[in-house]
Amino acid sequence: MLDHLKNADCLDYAQKIGDRRWLKIVHGHCAALHARQGHYSCRMYAARPNVCHVVEAGSRECLDARRRRGIS
Ligand code: SF4
Repeated sequence: MLDHLKNADCLDYAQKIGDRRWLKIVHGHCAALHARQGHYSCRMYAARPNVCHVVEAGSRECLDARRRRGIS
């Protein structure tokens, strides 16, 4: 959840459903994911939600989630 977001830039990557904010999914991935020439970064890294702190990139949980969404 992104209820902590206040920065207008970060709000571009969130949508409000009910009384909560969630990451937008665009083209099958998080709207905050920035991909350029094979390099990936987060456009809201400092304000990313807790799950992004907990799930390590490339970990089993990360790869399972990517597989479920057809990303890898
Ligand atoms: S770290 Fe989280 S907020 Fe940032 S691009 Fe990845 S999924 Fe989106």
